[in-house]
Amino acid sequence: MARIAVIGAGIAGLAGARALADAGHQVRVFEKSCGPGGRMATRRTVHGSFDHGAQYFTLRDPGFQRTVQAWVADGIAAPYTGHIVRLDGGVAQPLDHDEPRYVATPAMPAACRALGAGLAVEFECEITAVTPGENGWRLSWNDGGESGFDAVVLAVPAVQAVPLCTAVPALASRIGAATYAPCWAVLAHYATPLPVSFDAAFVTDAVLGWVMRDASRPGRAPGERWVLQASAAWSARHLESDAGTVAAHVAAAFCAAAGVTAVPEEAVAHRWRYALSKGLHAGFLWDARHRIGACGDWCADGRIEGAYLSGIGLAATLRRDA
Ligand SMILES: Cc1cc2nc3c(=O)[nH]c(=O)nc-3n(C[C@H](O)[C@H](O)[C@H](O)COP(=O)(O)OP(=O)(O)OC[C@H]3O[C@@H](n4cnc5c(N)ncnc54)[C@H](O)[C@@H]3O)c2cc1C
Repeated sequence: MARIAVIGAGIAGLAGARALADAGHQVRVFEKSCGPGGRMATRRTVHGSFDHGAQYFTLRDPGFQRTVQAWVADGIAAPYTGHIVRLDGGVAQPLDHDEPRYVATPAMPAACRALGAGLAVEFECEITAVTPGENGWRLSWNDGGESGFDAVVLAVPAVQAVPLCTAVPALASRIGAATYAPCWAVLAHYATPLPVSFDAAFVTDAVLGWVMRDASRPGRAPGERWVLQASAAWSARHLESDAGTVAAHVAAAFCAAAGVTAVPEEAVAHRWRYALSKGLHAGFLWDARHRIGACGDWCADGRIEGAYLSGIGLAATLRRDA
């Protein structure tokens, strides 16, 4: 039985930690936030909850399909049945290609919460350094640290993994190759239902990339709450803009794209500096000599499904090596 530290309680870290714990290893997860989920995030407001990070997940891999079917049976996930269109120049068009989409219920972090059930997770514990010592790896945080880990899994976004990997420069350099696009996500609440023919849309215009009526998803409270995601290009150009200005601009762009006249009762902008990675398509990274590895969406294809498979893949390799 090995003593393994997993840094990051997003879906990649928790999928890996779960698999390692199920194989009998002693696993500790360290997460800087106060709950699990990472970018599978939700925000409570007076108007109800918004999933302001990832919106849904696809099921292309048979292994992930089996996991999600179990979540569906347990009431943790459900198929998305809303009407999705492509909004092009203000005109709603059918999608050229569609595929099954699922959401976690009652909110996106639920899937991560299920994976993490029963695991030893330290929340509000930001790891500041990972250093080799005589009796294994040492993890440091603000006011403390712990030594004696046989292996370390970095399950954090690549930009945050690089500074934790200075002891193994070759691995740090591979991690450093991952790139990200930012995303401004605006959470808009309208007093009355918007007269639109769709529940969600891929948008092709100068500002928006994706919009979704939050309550069109299973298990959500009713209400006219919309998540409006700016495109990667617009988000990058306005990354340092004031959140209030962004919220107003993106909400106005939504009305123009959807052909409606409506002013949200409230619109709040959330900036994801590192939202979506193109992904290295490497599955995961593992340095067998130093017994440190990395997983996450950026190792794979930049999506939830890829992040899950990345965590599972690294855990399988570690199980063989441990
Ligand atoms: C706006 C937006 C929309 C998206 N839409 C979709 C979508 O519709 N479909 C889809 O499949 N994907 C989508 N994604 C991408 C999806 O959210 C990610 O691919 C997936 O959640 C990544 O999981 P992860 O575990 O790799 O990383 P994360 O979810 O980023 O988890 C990493 C965790 O590590 C923690 N952490 C970081 N540094 C430290 C540290 N030093 N110490 C301790 N903990 C640390 C973080 O707090 C976080 O909890 C979207 C993302 C965003 C932001």
